[in-house]
Amino acid sequence: MSTKNKEEKRIVTEAEKIEAKNFNIHDLPDVPTGLPPHLELQRTRVICNELAPIHTGGIFYSGAYKSMGVDNSVNLEKFNEDFKVDVISLDETDIVFDMIGINAPIANAFRRILLAELPSMAIEKVFVANNTSLVQDEVLAQRLGLIPIAADPRLFEYLSENDQPNEKNTIVFKLHVKCPRGEPRLKVKTNELIWLPNGSELVKESGGSDSKPKTYTSFSRSQDSFPEFAINPITPSLQDILIAKLGPGQEIELEAHAVKGIGKTHAKWSPVATAWYRMLPEVVLLKEFEDEEAVELVNVCPAKVFDIEDMGEGRKRAKVARPRDCTLCRECLREGKPGLEAKAKAKAEAKAKAKERGEEKEAKPTEEKKEWVPQVELRRLRSHFIFTIESTGSQPPDVLFTEAVKILEDKCESVIAAHSEVDWS
Ligand code: SF4
Repeated sequence: MSTKNKEEKRIVTEAEKIEAKNFNIHDLPDVPTGLPPHLELQRTRVICNELAPIHTGGIFYSGAYKSMGVDNSVNLEKFNEDFKVDVISLDETDIVFDMIGINAPIANAFRRILLAELPSMAIEKVFVANNTSLVQDEVLAQRLGLIPIAADPRLFEYLSENDQPNEKNTIVFKLHVKCPRGEPRLKVKTNELIWLPNGSELVKESGGSDSKPKTYTSFSRSQDSFPEFAINPITPSLQDILIAKLGPGQEIELEAHAVKGIGKTHAKWSPVATAWYRMLPEVVLLKEFEDEEAVELVNVCPAKVFDIEDMGEGRKRAKVARPRDCTLCRECLREGKPGLEAKAKAKAEAKAKAKERGEEKEAKPTEEKKEWVPQVELRRLRSHFIFTIESTGSQPPDVLFTEAVKILEDKCESVIAAHSEVDWS
C-alpha cells in the first residue's frame, strides 16, 4: 500500500463512534439570525462623530440584507404594531409630539405638506381709497398679505379667475385710520382691520336710480349668519402686528380681500410659522465617568444632558439623564476640549503636589496633551421623530397636523388608483 493510501484511511476511534451514535441535530447551537450588531446599529441609527453625522442615508431597499436572511421590506402589520404618536405639549399655536415607527421620507412628507399644501386664508387684493402715509401702496399691500387670518379655510372655497367674489370664497376687511393734526405719531396695528361680513363697501359702479350700486363683491348673505362665524367673528390671528405708522394729518383708507390659497403659491398662505422635526437623540457613555471626570462631563454639556449619580462613600458617577435635550453640539466629543480623563488626572496631580508643598493655593495643572479618544457616542434613532409645529394662529396646530394626514392619505389613494389603472400585462 502506498503512503498516500495510508493517509487516506483514517481509523475511527471508539470515542468518535460513541459521539456519532449520540449525535442529535437539535443539540447543535442555533445559527445566528438577524444582522450583526454593527449593521443593525447602522440600520436603526445615525451615528454622529466629532466632525459630522455618518451613514445618514437610510437603507430602504427591501433586499438590502437578503444575503443575511433579513427581510428589509415594508411590512404593514409591523408598521401598525410599531406606529405611535405621543403628544408632548400642545397650546394654541404650538404642538410638540413624537412620531414613532416612521422613516425620514414620511416625516419629511408631513413637513412639506404643512408648509406648502395646507390651505389658509390670506389677503390677496387691496383696494386703496386713500393713502397719505409714508408707506407706499405696494408695500402696504404686501404687509397686509402676510397678516395671518384666524378663519378656518375648510369653510371656504378657492376663488378661481372666473369666479365672482362671494361669501363662500372671500373675506373682506376695512381699514380706515387717520392721525389727527397736532397729535403724536400713530401706530396702525392689525386690530384696526374691521371685518365686513356683508362684503365690500367700495362702490365699483353706480347701479342707477332703481338698483343697488355694484361693489367689488357680490354676497348673497351675510357671513355672520353662518353659525361658525356668529360665535367667532373673523379677525387677524394677532391684534398687535404693526402695519404702518402715521404722522399728524396722514390717513389710510382701504379695503382688503382675503381668499383661500396654499403655501406652494405664496408663502403668505402657509398656515405654519414653521414645521420641523429631529430624530430622537441617544447618548451612550462608552466608559464609566467617575468622580472628577463625571463632574467635568456634566459641566462640559451646555444642554445639561448628564447628571451625577451618588454611588455612596463619597463616590460619584455620571449618567445620561436627559438624552432628549441633546442638541448635537458635540462639545462632549470635540477634539481640543479637555481630554476628560487627562485633565482629571492632571488636576489630581496638581492638587497632590500643592498639598505636599503645603501651599494653600493649588498649583496650576499642566495641560496634558493626549490623543483624543471619544468616550461618548452620539446617535439618532432613525424611526423616532420629534415633531414641532408652530401655527401662525389661523388654525390650532393639532388641526393642521390632522389635515396634513388627510392630504397624505389622498395622495396615497391617488397613487394606488393610478397604479391599478396601469395594464401590467
Ligand atoms: S452633544 Fe452637546 S448637548 Fe449633546 S450630550 Fe454632548 S455636549 Fe451635551
